[in-house]
Amino acid sequence: MAGKKARKAFHIGGKIIAPGTDARINIETTQLYTNTPVHMPMHVYHGKEDGPTLLVCAAIHGDELTGIEVIRRLIKNPRMTDINGTIILVPIVNHLAFIHRSRYLPDRRDLNRFFPGLDTGSLASRIAHKFMTEVVEHATHIVDLHTAAVHRTNFPQIRTNIDNAENLELAKAFGLPMVLNAELIEGSLRYSAGQMGKCAITFEGGEALRLSEDAIKPAYQGVLNVMAHLGMFKDVEKPALLVPTIANSSLWVRADADGILKNEVELGAHVKQGQLLGTINDPMGDFETRVTSPINGIVVGATTIPLVHQGEALYHIASFRKVSSVAQKIDDLRSFIERQE
Ligand SMILES: [Zn+2]
Repeated sequence: MAGKKARKAFHIGGKIIAPGTDARINIETTQLYTNTPVHMPMHVYHGKEDGPTLLVCAAIHGDELTGIEVIRRLIKNPRMTDINGTIILVPIVNHLAFIHRSRYLPDRRDLNRFFPGLDTGSLASRIAHKFMTEVVEHATHIVDLHTAAVHRTNFPQIRTNIDNAENLELAKAFGLPMVLNAELIEGSLRYSAGQMGKCAITFEGGEALRLSEDAIKPAYQGVLNVMAHLGMFKDVEKPALLVPTIANSSLWVRADADGILKNEVELGAHVKQGQLLGTINDPMGDFETRVTSPINGIVVGATTIPLVHQGEALYHIASFRKVSSVAQKIDDLRSFIERQE
């Protein structure tokens, strides 16, 4: 009898996952010097029907916790059991850095500069190689979840190379107010995935070593938006793409004095050229240095530690052709966050 061809099983980490089922996979990435193996756990939902293979991963930088919580919520979402295509959910890629509460591996290397890696290379290179060959290889689309570096925070945003139409479409589908065009950095997961012809975007939101609903909720909803856009939910219409608000450019405002920063603006604020962002004071009350915005734009990132040296980055400001429309979308996002349980 001629019928629809059954979907093939999914092979990953030495396991076979039948269509319409899901599985917990543990891939050994390295060992501790206590002779204890280090595993990278992931949850894979392999739908009955064909569709894309979406990889959502976090903590490539071991101190970036936002994405771990986002993926935990995705794993628990009952909608995952009835999808088109396959989703691979990897909450922590860089376990050695994670247990050290650090961005970097114990050899001080940044894993996100060593993709695609080499099985005979450095520690970072070997872990990168393992992740690429055993996990990334399977994916057609990738969402890589990040936060700002330690003592900095980012307003939720998508970074991608907008010259690639497929990447831009996925970035728009995520549904955040802004997309920043980010140059590809050689050795990053996004770069290597692009080299393999995969569509990849990076979410940036929140602060390292902290969990904030202001970043978790938009990232969680963003992944669901991407899944809907890719047709992975059976009962959801493909959502209309948001009008992209792509930053023209962005710059860091740096400290002109050494001292203690008294901040005057919140993350996501719409600031005018010349507007006061903060003042740098000294503990003895001898001076106050005003920090102002050199451009009209949105505060998309900021330092969270008020102790500053000259030259340190204080505020990341992105400029847009129509700043007011981005400001409106930021208000909409804030009310969305408040509405969510
Ligand atoms: Zn990161």
